[in-house]
Amino acid sequence: MTSTEPVSEKTPSQPAAEVDVLVVGAGITGIYQLYRAREAGFSALLLEAGDGVGGTWYWNRYPGARFDSESYTYAYLFSRELFEEWEWHEHFAEQPEIERYLNHVVDRFDLRHHMRFGAKVTSATWDEPSGRWTVVDSHGNEVRARFFVAATGVLSVPHFPEVPGREEFKGESYHTGLWPAEPVDFTGKRVAVIGTGSSGVQIIPVIAEKAAALTVYQRSANWCTPLNNAPITPEEQAQLRADFEAICRTLRSSPSGFLHVANERAAFDDSDEQRRAFFEEMWQSPGFSKLTSNYNDLLFDEAANAAWCDFLASKIRAIVKDPATADTLIPKDHRFGEKRPPFVTAYFEVYNEPHVHIVDLRETPIERVTERGIETADGLREFDIIVWATGFDFGTGALRRMGIEGRDGLALVDHWADGPTTFLGIQTTGFPNFFFPGGPHAAAGNNPRYNGDQVDFVTEILLHLRATGYDVIEVEPAAEEKWTAMVDRWATKAPSFGESSYYFGTNIPGKPRKYLLNSAGRPKLLAEIAKVYETDYASFRVARSMEAVSSG
Ligand SMILES: Cc1cc2nc3c(=O)[nH]c(=O)nc-3n(C[C@H](O)[C@H](O)[C@H](O)COP(=O)(O)OP(=O)(O)OC[C@H]3O[C@@H](n4cnc5c(N)ncnc54)[C@H](O)[C@@H]3O)c2cc1C
Repeated sequence: MTSTEPVSEKTPSQPAAEVDVLVVGAGITGIYQLYRAREAGFSALLLEAGDGVGGTWYWNRYPGARFDSESYTYAYLFSRELFEEWEWHEHFAEQPEIERYLNHVVDRFDLRHHMRFGAKVTSATWDEPSGRWTVVDSHGNEVRARFFVAATGVLSVPHFPEVPGREEFKGESYHTGLWPAEPVDFTGKRVAVIGTGSSGVQIIPVIAEKAAALTVYQRSANWCTPLNNAPITPEEQAQLRADFEAICRTLRSSPSGFLHVANERAAFDDSDEQRRAFFEEMWQSPGFSKLTSNYNDLLFDEAANAAWCDFLASKIRAIVKDPATADTLIPKDHRFGEKRPPFVTAYFEVYNEPHVHIVDLRETPIERVTERGIETADGLREFDIIVWATGFDFGTGALRRMGIEGRDGLALVDHWADGPTTFLGIQTTGFPNFFFPGGPHAAAGNNPRYNGDQVDFVTEILLHLRATGYDVIEVEPAAEEKWTAMVDRWATKAPSFGESSYYFGTNIPGKPRKYLLNSAGRPKLLAEIAKVYETDYASFRVARSMEAVSSG
């Protein structure tokens, strides 16, 4: 392994560097990968397109952005001291606190020195003789690395729908996933929010508090349920510290990566009355527990899912006073869990405010954006600010934009022309020494737990190579085919996994319809990783690069 250390931190022009491990992306996955690589004694450098640490929590600074995962279950578990010294203020922390936390981690473990910001990777090329990657950023700076780890996220490329005239608008215009650092003042303004996915429903109530008029443009209604956030009391803080080991044990083995207790009952094990009471309990429960602690057949039995959806629809009708508006807010095109369920705070209530209106884009699509506002078949509405809460090019968006070329000039975009193929969501054939933890075929659930398992696995692979004297590793095609076939099979296993979700990439015109998550989940990932260790890495082929061979 090389031992040359990276030298500096942040300027457009950088000396060429040579490292063992090059990580791309300063989100929760990339930071952890950098930490693990350094801890294992590898020289390492991290490149990040943004000007700061945080990934999702750097770019999504919109008001109302916060965790849907409990703060202490999302946080790192690798250091007890870190866990004990950082006090989260709320069960579901808001973006500024999360960004502060990730910066704290970087400084506490002295990682900033190994990071370059404002460094967007534009090409990465495998060089067979030397067994190294040459990675170039947008300033033309070059880094050569034995191992190339893209921790570039699945929700890191904001998507704008193709609406004529979008650039014409003369007012202020923002995408939630590219929010400016300076606060946006909505006071007294006429505001449009386009999109009612997880980000849209977080920002809408915050804007409604300030704006003179708020118009929400909804393409599809989502099954929103209350987040049920609360401050963490001093007693709870003490309990969290005391429970550190138990929390780690649960989170390391939990299928969804949460602390929520799974329900052993099926929906129709209970009487109608019991089921209604249980659904009420679920409605009051925190965040994702409505998915993870709900009846165990919720995603697999259509009738169970329908019973829960009926309950949610009755809740929406009870909150929203105008029946037509309530009806617009009730999803008709998908079941609960088919799309990523958003969690909300006082969301449905805003539609009772006289200055808040909803436009159903299924009935009156946007025809164009003009200099002054948004035009539908109903005419032009004028705005001071347009907020695009229109999501991301999910799963493969960032990887497909990095100019990655593997063996024999094979471009990743061509290799994945019909959608991604992977082994355990970390490697693909034809791209030796390239890893992408937290990328396509990641699992739904509490992201850092699954992504963290992948980072640990990648690190074990690097250690294995070092111990055995090899320096090149690539997954066997049969292993990749088997894993990808499993992912595709599971994609339609549950009746609630319909194809209208961005999980299939269907929100991006022209994108191949291919399932981008691993619905078999974390247990399957962990079992396969265990198998790799048991079989002494039989799913991979290892080699010594020509350079290593010739240098003896
Ligand atoms: C608003 C929002 C809320 C969310 N809430 C939750 C939640 O509560 N719980 C949960 O589990 N998940 C949540 N997620 C999912 C979230 O993306 C993950 O939890 C997590 O942030 C993924 O971390 P990551 O490090 O893998 O990727 P990211 O955080 O996306 O970081 C990837 C980084 O890679 C950088 N990058 C990409 N391409 C390049 C390039 N070519 N060159 C250089 N740098 C590049 C990006 O700039 C980015 O900083 C949320 C996502 C969003 C958008």
